[in-house]
Amino acid sequence: MRYISTRGRAPVLDFEAATLAGLASDGGLYVPESWPRFTHAEIAAMAGLSYVEVAVRVCRPFTGDCLDEAALREIFTTAYGRFAHAAVAPLKQLDHRHLLLELFHGPTLAFKDIALQSLGLVFERFLARSGQHITVIGATSGDTGSAAIDALAGRAGVEVYMLHPHNRVSPVQRAQMTSVLAPNIHNIAITGNFDDAQALVKAMFNDAAFSGRFNLGAVNSINWARLMFQVVYYFTSALALGAPHRAIAYAVPTGNFGDVFAGYVAAQMGLPIERLIVATNENDILHRALSVGDYSAGAVAPTDSPSMDIQVSSNFERLLFDLAGRDGAALSARMAEFEATKRMAIPDDQRESATKLFTSARIDAAEMADTMRWAQTHTGEILDPHTAIGLAAARRDTGTAPMVTLATAHPAKFPAAVSAACSIEPALPARLADLMSRPERFDVEPAQLQAIEAYIAARAAPR
Ligand SMILES: *Cc1c(COP(=O)(O)O)cnc(C)c1O
Repeated sequence: MRYISTRGRAPVLDFEAATLAGLASDGGLYVPESWPRFTHAEIAAMAGLSYVEVAVRVCRPFTGDCLDEAALREIFTTAYGRFAHAAVAPLKQLDHRHLLLELFHGPTLAFKDIALQSLGLVFERFLARSGQHITVIGATSGDTGSAAIDALAGRAGVEVYMLHPHNRVSPVQRAQMTSVLAPNIHNIAITGNFDDAQALVKAMFNDAAFSGRFNLGAVNSINWARLMFQVVYYFTSALALGAPHRAIAYAVPTGNFGDVFAGYVAAQMGLPIERLIVATNENDILHRALSVGDYSAGAVAPTDSPSMDIQVSSNFERLLFDLAGRDGAALSARMAEFEATKRMAIPDDQRESATKLFTSARIDAAEMADTMRWAQTHTGEILDPHTAIGLAAARRDTGTAPMVTLATAHPAKFPAAVSAACSIEPALPARLADLMSRPERFDVEPAQLQAIEAYIAARAAPR
């Protein structure tokens, strides 16, 4: 499989190079040259397989000569062996129609572990093979950072610089990042919001001299491999519920459009997905884009679901690329205009083609809290705020297909919001019980490109 940029001017790469590059050199995102497609029989044959075996089959078409079946199996066995649930991503039934897909049984209690535990092992393997050294830079609204840091701490050949918005991640999220004292991990708290952090990371990639000097790599969901690993749980959950013989609907709490784009990929690969509900909080750019074609970024409003406090959803570009007929030059011009004006109108025909699969909902703070209380009272489940936004959107849906809400974080990651809504203090699992008393290490820096580049240059090894 070869990978092309959504903006049409970056070199075509294989899986290994696309994984190590992260962002394409023309500012675009790498996508597979075409979507591999399973037959109905091939999907049916996956029923009953373990998570690891489904992962091997789903990912194999994407990795070409870079990772063979045995390598994938070894990676997934190690990565998912660290999870606290033998099913890796178990389903939990809430009522006759609704289910939760629990994606938070990994080391840092959010779904991002599923992709990043595997990505860490893939990085190490590729770097050892080529003798390269990589400097991973990332922006996090909390969960990506902790998951990436856990996955990359102590890995040979990798140095990590993680930017998070100072005082805008939960104390648990912060401690999960800053209590990792491995010498290859550097936490930078920037005085700004998540979009500022993400813009800084993009700017460092676009600074060719800097990016080349330190061999920058990305672990944000702009990295194609992450999305690939996330496609897997759409398959395992749909298979458990009767796919390919019946269609399944999903509600996905969304920020950067990564997790829900993985659902789109699963559908392109032949999985019968009836609907993907894009659930946003008050930061509703995706809801406006899909419902009225208004993709325009406002100011980020801080909410109780901070991992979705995003106005510019990077991965939406991957969908726009497909919607506009995979014309990189045309998309490049539209994205340049969006970057300048912060607004883009989605043409009606493209929006209508998207809404054949995607619907959307904007869930405010009150509806989120009501949904947390509904789940507590009627099902005994304590939900984290992100999952509650997904479930609220799912419960508005009037269809009949089994409805799976992606449970993206453990409630103990967001104890303040949970106790405000449910009057319960969710406990951290035993393996993290002492987290809040671990020593922390991080530096506070202004949200300025020069300052961050200087910080990294003073510490990182040039290539
Ligand atoms: C990252 C995250 C999301 C949003 O996922 P995207 O891939 O950015 O859409 C939702 N919930 C939680 C808990 C997250 O950590």
